[in-house]
Amino acid sequence: MLGPVLLAASRSAAIRRIVSAAPVTRPMVDRFVAGERLDESLVAVRSLASRGLEVTLDHLGEDVTDRSEALRSRDAYLALAEALATEELGTRAEMSVKLSAFGQALPGGHDVALANVTPVVEAAAEAGTTVTLDMEDHTTVDSTLAILGELRSRFPQTGAVVQSYLFRTEDDCRALAGEGSRVRLVKGAYKEPASVAYQDKREVDRAYVRCLKILMAGDGYPMIGSHDPRMVAIAQELARRVGRKLDEYEFQMLYGIREGEQERLVAEGHRMRVYVPYGTDWYGYFMRRLAERPANVAFFLRSLVSR
Ligand code: FAD
Repeated sequence: MLGPVLLAASRSAAIRRIVSAAPVTRPMVDRFVAGERLDESLVAVRSLASRGLEVTLDHLGEDVTDRSEALRSRDAYLALAEALATEELGTRAEMSVKLSAFGQALPGGHDVALANVTPVVEAAAEAGTTVTLDMEDHTTVDSTLAILGELRSRFPQTGAVVQSYLFRTEDDCRALAGEGSRVRLVKGAYKEPASVAYQDKREVDRAYVRCLKILMAGDGYPMIGSHDPRMVAIAQELARRVGRKLDEYEFQMLYGIREGEQERLVAEGHRMRVYVPYGTDWYGYFMRRLAERPANVAFFLRSLVSR
């Protein structure tokens, strides 16, 4: 019950002010966010890399409301690409972007986002790395997949994300399972209506497995974005059945979540990529993480009232 309330709160300016100002929020945020500055995120990247983990970096930000903010997102990612090139981290670290941070929701937003994200994808290629387009709420999926198509015509390594809770996603997986594609499969983190998405967790899990089967049997590179031990085990079994080698797919988990499991998969020889968010605009990301796990919310609320 709490999950949908938190997801609604993740888009409320009033609740954002209260949560952001509460002193107990900061330590909770630090668990999920690698720092506010680029140099702090690079410290986290080096630490993860030293333990054999790969990384995808997310400069936090979403739902920008004007063009200058969208340009600031672009510039933050250009600085990130430059840092990855300078530090020679391009083989370990890629970048994840949210197109709503690049202006996708502005008037003419599709073209604005494409124009702003293109130099980032170019800079990533120069740094020896690539970009994955995060997937946001269902109203953005067509635009995001169309932008992916444009980018892939010049940069075939550009990655996509698909969300198993959406009814459409099995078809999207079939369309994206071709040679050279990189597809991160997740369950989905937004509050979606029953007209477009499964509401029952078991249905979402079943759809996740169906999508996984399509991606594993296809010719692309599946990226399994889940902390769910069942999904991890099923992915391993499917990979074995279709004869995929360990470097023909990868697991992905979020920074600060199930770190023991991340290291266990590396020790087993798997490629494991950690999604590392950094920046000051952590509110929406943080609230989605709380919404995913009642234990996190209970801990957070207890800290609020015990002060
Ligand atoms: P769940 O069924 O939610 O959880 C399974 C188990 O994982 C839980 O029992 C618990 O042990 C653990 N766990 C899960 N979440 C937490 C948490 N917050 N804190 C502590 N433990 C937890 N969603 C999008 O909509 N778009 C994206 O672009 C996107 N990118 C992602 C990238 C990566 C690398 C990952 C891992 C997730 C991404 N997500 C994205 C989020 C995703 O959609 C889910 O909301 C999230 O991963 C939780 O689902 P789950 O598969 O981990 O399984």
